[in-house]
Amino acid sequence: MSSLQARTFTRPIGTAVNHAARLELLENYLSYQEDILRCAQMSLEWLARHAGVKQSACLAVDAESSMLVGIAAYGVVGDDIELFSWPLSDAYDPLVGALQAERPVQFRSYRPNGHAAQASPSPLGRGPFTAIPLGLRTSGVAEHEDLAPGLLLLRAPAITDDIQWLVTVLGQKIDQVRGRGSLAEEARKLRRERTLFFTIINAVTDPIMLTDIDGRLIVANARAEKLFAASEEESEGRRRAVELNNMLFSAALSRSAVEGTPEARELLLVDPSDGSDLLFEVLSTSVEDPREGTGVVSVLRNITDLRRATEQIEENYQKLRVAEAAVRAERDRLNLIIDSVADPIIVTDATGATVLMNAPAEDLFTVVPGASEAASRTVQANDAHFSSFISGLLLGETGPGEIRRGEIGLMNPATAEPIPVEAIAGKVLTETGELTAVVTILHDRREALERARLYEQLKAASDELQARVQAATAELATQNELLRRQAIELEQASRLKSQFLANMSHEFRTPLNAILGYTHMLLQGVAGDLLPGVKRQLQRIDSNGRHLMTIINEILDITRIEAGKMPMQLSEFNLNELVPEVMTELDPVITRSKLTVVPRLWLDLPPVYSDRQKVKQIIVNLLSNALKFTHEGGIQITVGYNEAERTAGVAVADTGIGISPENHEKIFEDFRQVDDSPSRQYGGTGLGLAICRRLATALGGRITLESTMGVGSTFTLTIPLETEQ
Ligand code: ADP
Repeated sequence: MSSLQARTFTRPIGTAVNHAARLELLENYLSYQEDILRCAQMSLEWLARHAGVKQSACLAVDAESSMLVGIAAYGVVGDDIELFSWPLSDAYDPLVGALQAERPVQFRSYRPNGHAAQASPSPLGRGPFTAIPLGLRTSGVAEHEDLAPGLLLLRAPAITDDIQWLVTVLGQKIDQVRGRGSLAEEARKLRRERTLFFTIINAVTDPIMLTDIDGRLIVANARAEKLFAASEEESEGRRRAVELNNMLFSAALSRSAVEGTPEARELLLVDPSDGSDLLFEVLSTSVEDPREGTGVVSVLRNITDLRRATEQIEENYQKLRVAEAAVRAERDRLNLIIDSVADPIIVTDATGATVLMNAPAEDLFTVVPGASEAASRTVQANDAHFSSFISGLLLGETGPGEIRRGEIGLMNPATAEPIPVEAIAGKVLTETGELTAVVTILHDRREALERARLYEQLKAASDELQARVQAATAELATQNELLRRQAIELEQASRLKSQFLANMSHEFRTPLNAILGYTHMLLQGVAGDLLPGVKRQLQRIDSNGRHLMTIINEILDITRIEAGKMPMQLSEFNLNELVPEVMTELDPVITRSKLTVVPRLWLDLPPVYSDRQKVKQIIVNLLSNALKFTHEGGIQITVGYNEAERTAGVAVADTGIGISPENHEKIFEDFRQVDDSPSRQYGGTGLGLAICRRLATALGGRITLESTMGVGSTFTLTIPLETEQ
């Protein structure tokens, strides 16, 4: 409103009264303006400019209400001029009195007649002021014939020509208009309309503005004032925001003027109260007013929330699209999976109707065009079986995620071959627990049944085998037991045999010793000289008796060793000494053989701790054999020592007949001879080497053999330096 006044009243103030100024007032307002209030207002302003009257007010007689009412004021503060009214009936009121005066009435200190309701006694207060009755007295108003049409109250040093001129023309104008209606009524109507107008535009929550073509604010509702108007007292920030909003708005208006776009455009403003962004849609319409010129009415619609909601909706729509795509992909994937499963899969809805099935299921439950009658019947039968399974499931109480199994007897429509299937079904429930679908997988049980049959067969075979193994094991145990008993019996028999042999040898030796003893005495001539023939026969008895004694001794040795009754006589001795001793003992045999026997002793040989008698017996035996089986050449008896092994030994090497490799082990067995024919060339029992090996083992040693047929043999006895008891 302020800008409206500023625009309207910026005409230069004239310094001299002139006709041009009077003409302007008459032409612009008083001649054609029907609005008496506006005429009065313009007149007072004209007085201020041309007559220097800084304070003035105009009162007019309202014939209808018989009141003197205020219609315009200039330069006065306080109550609205339209609130001043005086009843004309109050003839004692000074102002009503002034209406009847012939000339201006001076009020030094004005006092109303006590009836005035207003706070201020008059528009110019208590005065001093001058009240000039307007214009001419007319006879237009019957009851108040003597009254002027109104009063001009002013504060001025003198009543100039201009004032008098104005009093005349304004009086004429009021008189002229007064004939047409009630002044007070018009003022009230205008007041009501103005109040209504502001009530209406303030009730609109959208900012509404009337601006001039330069964008200056003329009228604004409360919402718009919040955005575009700020007084000096308001905060700096708020004022700056308002300034910015004005700038943005002017720019938007001029843009729409340039582009000539009548449609709505968006405008981003700042909320002066909190600085937040506000998005508006501006609808501008230009209006033409004969007096005010061209203006622009703009209605701003706040679309901040709308924009936000739009964005939200857009975002949600995008999300929906993405979700939809995901669901579609999921469904395609699911279809792919269902189709790639070899087992029939059927999806039914809550009523049991089939919604989806894969190719293997279609083979069972759909009739192929051109199928035989039998095939169609089979499909129907399959359908019936499956439906009864599903209805059983739908009636039954199965929770979400729970799987129900059942067996259904179906048939292959193409081959009429029975297919026993296991149906595995699960319910698909919504979040609220409502049943949406049932997914059933039919698993062909033929293979499983075949496997079960094979398994049974295999199990039976395995059981049989196990029974057989058990029987065989029992048999084996019996045999083992028998063998064990036989072994015990054999062992007993062997012990008895050894015992018997030992006893018998002893029994043989006693009489044989007597025979040999007596023979020896006869040969020594104890019973007198003997004839040469008798002596020869006695010598044969002696020789055979000795041979028999050797055999008996050897058998006795074997049985003793067998029975573990060969006592050890351990002592320390030197092998170097033992070899010549053996040679001395066998000297007659060596001499008779005409072979050279060479002893090869070991210098610094440590003494051995062993059974001297048994070692000697072994060496005697080996040397006897060498002499027996060698016809030419010689025999070497070598003493040896192995420091690392802590063993000593004696090797008897001959140049005799040799022993074939297959007999190298055999000759150590009891009674074993290489030539065991009845016509054999060499004597002996075959026990010598068997006894030697047993003795060597008993001493902790061994006998080894190296021999080549026709070249010779070497028997080696090895014993530890110390034999343990
Ligand atoms: P015998 O009392 O028969 O000699 P031995 O046990 O001493 O019994 O010998 C067994 C057999 O080993 C002999 O009959 C002989 O065939 C063979 N034998 C033993 N020593 C020699 C040897 N030095 N050369 C060849 N053959 C031998």
